[in-house]
Amino acid sequence: MNKFDYMERYGYEQLIYFHDKTTGLKGVTCIHDTTLGPSLGGTRIWNYESEDDAVLDCLRLARGMTYKNAAAGLNLGGGKTVLIGDASTVKSEAYFRALGRYVQSLNGRYITAEDVNTTTKDMDYIHMETDYVVGLEGKSGNPSPITALGAFHGIRAALKFRFGSDDISRYTYAIQGAGETGRALISYLLEANAKKIYYSEINPKNIQKMEKEFPDCELVDPDNIYSLDVDVFAPCALGAVMNDKTIPILKSKIVAGNANNVLSDEERHGLMLKERGILYAPDFVINAGGVINVYHELHNYNRERVIKDVEKIYDRLLEIFRISEAENVHTQKAALVYAENRMNTIAAIHRNYIRR
Ligand code: NAD
Repeated sequence: MNKFDYMERYGYEQLIYFHDKTTGLKGVTCIHDTTLGPSLGGTRIWNYESEDDAVLDCLRLARGMTYKNAAAGLNLGGGKTVLIGDASTVKSEAYFRALGRYVQSLNGRYITAEDVNTTTKDMDYIHMETDYVVGLEGKSGNPSPITALGAFHGIRAALKFRFGSDDISRYTYAIQGAGETGRALISYLLEANAKKIYYSEINPKNIQKMEKEFPDCELVDPDNIYSLDVDVFAPCALGAVMNDKTIPILKSKIVAGNANNVLSDEERHGLMLKERGILYAPDFVINAGGVINVYHELHNYNRERVIKDVEKIYDRLLEIFRISEAENVHTQKAALVYAENRMNTIAAIHRNYIRR
């Protein structure tokens, strides 16, 4: 991979390599775009097969954060850090403090947070060396319930657009994955008197939790979840679940949930869903509750304000659905247009000089 070609093609600003001899810390931070504000994105630890795999993952994830943050109405750009190593052995106080020092050296151009294989405890170590970290112990807390709240409002918006009413109690739902975000979403749907909820799950512990907490929900075989005759299919487990095999058998009229990277191929499967008349709520818009939540740590965290901000996912999705219809493009594409419009407009109003 020619990294400069890639960076030029997708408008990246900066790619930083770092290494700490004492702790073996080894990783890269990528800053994709800071038009709207400092870049923000989590730190992921993964045992990548090659350095190129790690860098490509970091570049791709940082760019994803630019769009997610822009579409969420946040004054943030997109960034990401990936650390190369085995998460079960590399972690220590010194390891994360060494990372904190690299983050500090970027002088606020990048703010880090939790991601795959990092926890609030790790963020607390990073915080000993830098203020440019969110997701700290005792602040915004577990992101899953707030992510699910965003998805709940996103589902309401999709119901409104597709069927004309956002009354949750009139419809049926299939939830794929009853983990942290899936169960939280189910609890919001039940609170709003959802007509019927089916779910699939592969972890026996989570099935037990479901049977205890939500006995009225019906467990179905993981392979059968796509073809259920329901109104909404909510992916809350894996990525790439909308693909050549699943879209043709889908009976729901809406796909809207918490999962990331739902479309196996954004262009192809975004279009396939549109052609089948299935309304897809773009993942990076509907599941932005978590990042909205940590963003508020930068401005005197207040739960009520976070909830109000997360509720805006409803109107945002309606606008994206309208763009999709007006421009005759699939909704994932419309969401990218929506995010780019915001970045371009804000960049344009910053052209004139004003003393502050
Ligand atoms: P989780 O691990 O708590 O839950 C996922 C659940 O899916 C697990 O219980 C797992 O057993 C189940 N599962 C895995 N494969 C399955 C299959 N084939 N069929 C049915 N169930 C299956 O994770 P989570 O935090 O709930 O995240 C779920 C999705 O939401 C992920 O894609 C994640 O990236 C995305 N997401 C989460 C957050 C958050 O705040 N946690 C924020 C944004 C996006």
